[in-house]
Amino acid sequence: MTRTVYVNGEYLPETEAKVSIFDRGFLMADAVYEVTSVLNGKLIDFDGHAVRLKRSLDALDMAEPCSKEELLEIHRKLVTLNEIEEGMIYLQVTRGSDGDRDFVFPSDETKPTIVLFTQNKPGLADSPAAKKGIRVISIDDVRWGRRDIKTTQLLYPSLGKMMAKKAGADDAWMVEDGHVTEGTSNNAYFVKDGKIVTRPLSSDILHGITRKAVLRMAAEAQMAVEERLFTIEEAQQADEAFVTSASTFVMPVVEIDGQILGDGTPGPIARRLREIYLDESLKAAV
Ligand code: PMP
Repeated sequence: MTRTVYVNGEYLPETEAKVSIFDRGFLMADAVYEVTSVLNGKLIDFDGHAVRLKRSLDALDMAEPCSKEELLEIHRKLVTLNEIEEGMIYLQVTRGSDGDRDFVFPSDETKPTIVLFTQNKPGLADSPAAKKGIRVISIDDVRWGRRDIKTTQLLYPSLGKMMAKKAGADDAWMVEDGHVTEGTSNNAYFVKDGKIVTRPLSSDILHGITRKAVLRMAAEAQMAVEERLFTIEEAQQADEAFVTSASTFVMPVVEIDGQILGDGTPGPIARRLREIYLDESLKAAV
């Protein structure tokens, strides 16, 4: 089946979808994005993603390509057209193009570019990695200072994943001024003596949609949560660790820089939170 994608108001076969070579998303990573999971053919936390998209657009003084209602309709239509039961929808909005390259923003009349496509991922929820847990290494965080804006500047996170792969690990946690910021594409947590610790929100990290939901669910389940800075060494001494993201939900971490956590299998809090998150999110899916 040829995938149907959405580009600037049109539903097209992926082979016919086109964006200008002068598009600022292409030339300057002048673009923001969102990734929304689909489970049982429904969107997980669509509202959270729509709100964060608006925040990213506002932060960069970029125009909204369409209303939230239209956005929901496009998401739903792509799920239906591509028969997605489990997978993701990728959404990107760029500042568009006025037909040349210039550092200065194009005129206000220039329309933003909006692109959406689906990724079919059967077995997304019942992931083998979640049963085994993942191994992470630490790397320096050399990204720019506005990590709270979800831009498409993903070269360093991509290099980080490659460094992890080369080291025989699954992912990397980034460290700045001695403290863990976040994973290359997820928020980072450890658990010690029953308490969940994660870095507080600031412009140093992405404000994860999954982070927000998981912290709320943890509090509802009477789990202790502390938002504070932490080091790799502290996380290495933890009972367990995990990461969260819209496409991996709650993913247990069993090894940090070669140090095995606990008995080297996913910890009870990470497993419980994954269960609660999937359960609650499915109930609220649209
Ligand atoms: N931090 C970074 C750097 C990310 O790229 C992501 C995933 N986009 C996250 C955290 C997790 O955010 P979310 O739960 O909204 O997917």
